[in-house]
Amino acid sequence: MAEYVLSIDQGTTSSRAIIFDHAGAVVASGQKEHEQILPRAGWVEHDPAEIWQNVQEVIGLALTRAHLTRHDIAAVGITNQRETAVVWDRATGEPVYNAIVWQDTRTQEIVDRLAADGGIDRFAEFVGLPLATYFSGTKVAWILENVDGARERADAGELMFGTTDTWVLWNLTGGVDGGVHATDVTNASRTMFMDLETLQWRDDILKAFGVPASMLPEIRSSSEVYGTAENSSLLRETPIAGILGDQQAATFGQAAFRAGESKNTYGTGCFLIFNTGEEIVRSKNGLLTTVGYKLGDAPTHYALEGSIAVAGSLIQWLRDQLGLISSAPEVEELASLVEDNGGVYIVPAFSGLFTPYWRPDARGAIVGLTRFANRNHIARAALEAVAFQTRDVLDAVNADAGVELKELKVDGGMVANDALMQFQADVLGVSVVRPKVAETTALGAAYAAGLAVGFWSDLDELSANWQEDRRWEPTMAADERDRQLRLWRKAVTKSMDWVDEDVR
Ligand code: ADP
Repeated sequence: MAEYVLSIDQGTTSSRAIIFDHAGAVVASGQKEHEQILPRAGWVEHDPAEIWQNVQEVIGLALTRAHLTRHDIAAVGITNQRETAVVWDRATGEPVYNAIVWQDTRTQEIVDRLAADGGIDRFAEFVGLPLATYFSGTKVAWILENVDGARERADAGELMFGTTDTWVLWNLTGGVDGGVHATDVTNASRTMFMDLETLQWRDDILKAFGVPASMLPEIRSSSEVYGTAENSSLLRETPIAGILGDQQAATFGQAAFRAGESKNTYGTGCFLIFNTGEEIVRSKNGLLTTVGYKLGDAPTHYALEGSIAVAGSLIQWLRDQLGLISSAPEVEELASLVEDNGGVYIVPAFSGLFTPYWRPDARGAIVGLTRFANRNHIARAALEAVAFQTRDVLDAVNADAGVELKELKVDGGMVANDALMQFQADVLGVSVVRPKVAETTALGAAYAAGLAVGFWSDLDELSANWQEDRRWEPTMAADERDRQLRLWRKAVTKSMDWVDEDVR
């Protein structure tokens, strides 16, 4: 009997394959980074062919390292960077352009044009999202408007669109030879095209964006057999049975299955998801309304989400652009050399501010500088910025949900940073809890796939797998917390209103 599930995590900076056992423990993994193509300021692209090649290689790496073959794998799950758009030719499988990545802001003009009639919340009632460059819909529209011949080919039904889950699924299941063109409800909920209630594409919105419905993948649940692997010699005939966008996958991997449960993931960006159960909650505080998961024919679970564009990438910026540190963990050493931030605040609005501000006109700011401030203060302020942004998101969640969250489950690369986690507990005033299995994103997709094929029987079985690794309790005095929050919020106002017509 197959005793393992393989998860493909097609992320922003790398693709990984991780093999899990029945207890949800990692057995082996493979990982490969892909190139970040930055043709100009604000543009971020990936090569879809490189991503597909890497996905195949990491599957091989993981299987080899675990000494397993496809006969040991009960099912495959896919999780992915969510709003990154790929458009390719249905007959040849060739992408017509590089993938346009979720961080890319080139579509601001399209956003402004669409928002001119009805404002940025023009479609929010149906899709739960404000108009923003972040979502994949604007990126498809850009490709159709700017790539030679793309519009005509799309109108003739020759092109396919997908986020990277769809790109990987289509290729894995045969590509031009009968590949399955599908996505799951969570990825579809990030396009701006899907109606949250019906879980179908909306013709009126597609028309407004100028995107033909023939390009779109079929919307399926997050846990069902979509097809079997045909194009990967290593996984031939293995069922592909789970798809969840990365943040929803992390929520699932954290066993936050029920209304009122939540998690915050600290990676390149920071994403807090709050499960609202079967209820669609419309945010009054700048959160996104999104699909949490849907298991086969069972009812859909919805969620509120706070998206912070810059978190771990601020640490990368300290390393790569400023040369302040030579590796990410070093930021903790520097930060611990000073008692406090020395009055320095960093607002990392590199591509505007996401939740809860939604201000594309904001740009990064370092404020409160005096002759006293040194590199250690900057390092500390960078870590604190991640925690402050999370506090802003949590305030919005508490206001929308009408309940105060009692503890926060955390995951992602930055939760290795003890100083950050302690400061996070301090500025939130609630406990912060890290699970034993750090690979929650890949685990969530594995869970979705394993449930579909009966490898796991139900959610209770998965909940029992969740184990606490470490917990941080708040220790900061309330008046100090209030003082710091007041200064942080003042700093945020200083980052706004920066981009004018002539700012490049
Ligand atoms: P993603 O899945 O978005 O690629 P990960 O969850 O792998 O991201 O996290 C990587 C991010 O975490 C990087 O941006 C890196 O700068 C940051 N990071 C890793 N270790 C630390 C650390 N000890 N302290 C602060 N940041 C860290």
